[in-house]
Amino acid sequence: MVGRASKGLDAPIALQGYDCDIAVVGAGVIGTTTALELQAAGYDVMLIDRKGVAAECSFGNAGHLAVEHIFPLSSPATIAQVPRMLLAPNGPLSIRWQYLPKLMPWLLKFLWAGRPAQVARGTKAISALNEQALTAYRSLDARFGLDGLLHEDGTLVVYESDKGIEGAHKEQGALAEFGVETEFLESTALKDFDPALNPALKGALRFPGSAHVGDPARLVRKLASHFVRLGGRIERQEVRTIEAEISRTILATNTGRVRTRALVVASGAWSHHLARQLGYKAPLETERGYHLMLSEPTRSPRVPTTFAERRFVATPMEQGLRLAGRVELGGLQLPARDAQANALMPLGRDLLPGLDAAETSPWMGFRPTLPDSLPVIGEAPNHRNIYFAFGHNHMGLTHGAITAQLIRELIKGETPSVDLTPYWIGRF
Ligand SMILES: Cc1cc2nc3c(=O)[nH]c(=O)nc-3n(C[C@H](O)[C@H](O)[C@H](O)COP(=O)(O)OP(=O)(O)OC[C@H]3O[C@@H](n4cnc5c(N)ncnc54)[C@H](O)[C@@H]3O)c2cc1C
Repeated sequence: MVGRASKGLDAPIALQGYDCDIAVVGAGVIGTTTALELQAAGYDVMLIDRKGVAAECSFGNAGHLAVEHIFPLSSPATIAQVPRMLLAPNGPLSIRWQYLPKLMPWLLKFLWAGRPAQVARGTKAISALNEQALTAYRSLDARFGLDGLLHEDGTLVVYESDKGIEGAHKEQGALAEFGVETEFLESTALKDFDPALNPALKGALRFPGSAHVGDPARLVRKLASHFVRLGGRIERQEVRTIEAEISRTILATNTGRVRTRALVVASGAWSHHLARQLGYKAPLETERGYHLMLSEPTRSPRVPTTFAERRFVATPMEQGLRLAGRVELGGLQLPARDAQANALMPLGRDLLPGLDAAETSPWMGFRPTLPDSLPVIGEAPNHRNIYFAFGHNHMGLTHGAITAQLIRELIKGETPSVDLTPYWIGRF
């Protein structure tokens, strides 16, 4: 059933007894891109979100189309660094301790996913999506227009220590095995490449094949405007319950009912609540992440630049400079801590000496993360015409266009262009 075409949804029909052919729940980058692909394929699609378009995690990410990120988050190397990261004051990883009891089952699964055989499988599965990620965005750009938001000018990872440089060389070797192009810049070459960066940096890896978007929220809004132009409908409603019948699914929302022939659950960090109603377990947690947006910055890097040892990324954007990073494990309910975002400013100054801004604004978003760092993409095993597209962790922007393409292929009954076996929900 997985890894090959689903039976798909028959051609669009006149909507007797239905409110739409396909309801997509969640108007983040995953749901909106999926809704656009399906509307363009001729279906009558309703995109439903309780907060509107790009209102949650897809609003504030770092804008990096990170096709060079092929390794799962859990690995022996990452796990070894966890105690140091947790103990560092204002470090890159934190746990809201009152949430620990609820977090424990996910944490144990995350640790278990770090065993070498699983890491090898995960790396292959992430690479398979990455290989087609940019092509899928180029296709959206060619068919609908992305308004100059797509920048294919590569990215950098910079290092301040000899140990970091040693690690960079090792990583280069590991990435080459998967066809990821890298270029090592020693310190003089790095100064030439980007004079704004701290001259004390020891070197960098450049990823010429990576890309970024100039404003992730504007990208999703742009895709939503194409969707509406093609006849798609956006409803601001909260889906509360899902009732799957043989030939249709009924969504009960805060304002009424939606009767649909097919359903796509693309509800980011809340997707497991909806999947559970259909009898599927997905151990989804949120890795809360932060950004600090700087308007009129006095310094900016040339391309998105990750500071390896300090674990954050600085991305030049249309509205200024975005410093992004942090992983805070604390669930969906606890309030954001602005101090986490503000702590990015001194780190930014270590990367870009003399950095200042007219204004700064902090933000927090809920990354949806499964323990094995793979998303769920595919048809519900025990239901026809119900599909899942969630759990894209740190890679949701990167995998937005390819996920949408895969769901469109499944719904049309075509063989998906990536083998979907590793991403099926039944793996948990
Ligand atoms: C600081 C930070 C930096 C990041 N940087 C990058 C990066 O550089 N590159 C990258 O690829 N990724 C990055 N990410 C990750 C990326 O942003 C996410 O993976 C992606 O946004 C997830 O998209 P989504 O559509 O699944 O979820 P979301 O954008 O969260 O959308 C889900 C939507 O579902 C709606 N919803 C949920 N439940 C319901 C319901 N019951 N009824 C109606 N609506 C509902 C919500 O309102 C929400 O709008 C970053 C994340 C963070 C936090």
